[in-house]
Amino acid sequence: MTALVPLTYPLASLLAEPAGTERRYEIHGATIPLPDDLRLTEPIDGRLKITRTNRGVFVDAQLSTAIAGSCSRCLRDIEIPIQVKIAEEVLPVVDIATGRVLDPESEPEVARLTDHHELDFATLAAEAISLNEPIAPLCEEDCPGLCIECGERLGPDHVEHDEPEIDPRLAALQAFRVDGEGESE
Ligand SMILES: [Zn+2]
Ligand SMILES: [Zn+2]
Repeated sequence: MTALVPLTYPLASLLAEPAGTERRYEIHGATIPLPDDLRLTEPIDGRLKITRTNRGVFVDAQLSTAIAGSCSRCLRDIEIPIQVKIAEEVLPVVDIATGRVLDPESEPEVARLTDHHELDFATLAAEAISLNEPIAPLCEEDCPGLCIECGERLGPDHVEHDEPEIDPRLAALQAFRVDGEGESE
């Protein structure tokens, strides 16, 4: 099966079928633009089932991909695997039987087909992927984070620091400062 890029599915013929009629599609290697600063690092694979409902179509999809991110503890670049499930009714903007334009304002929250009875699945998928972006991704489950002294990532490659040696004159100065603060209160 050919890659269905850019994930636009013409559904005029499905809309002419009775409710309950299904179309199934495989998605292989699709790439789509994502909102914000999100970027795919793996193309999207998955499957899509579109079922005719009384009012429009029901979209049932399962997708897997990966996006670029950074570890919330050690900040290094990572690839975040994303699994997305979409289950959403999408309504036409035009009544296919009468050609009458339906009022999208009556249900502003609902996703719509295009004027040409196409499902813009790329937009649905992009929204679902961005909603599934983890808030605090980790490079590995027990990422040790960063060293507060040198800023390098802790772990096997990090060289332990010696105890910092305090210059006796500096130590005396610190003591003096503490005393000074005490007096000013
Ligand atoms: Zn990390
Ligand atoms: Zn360090």
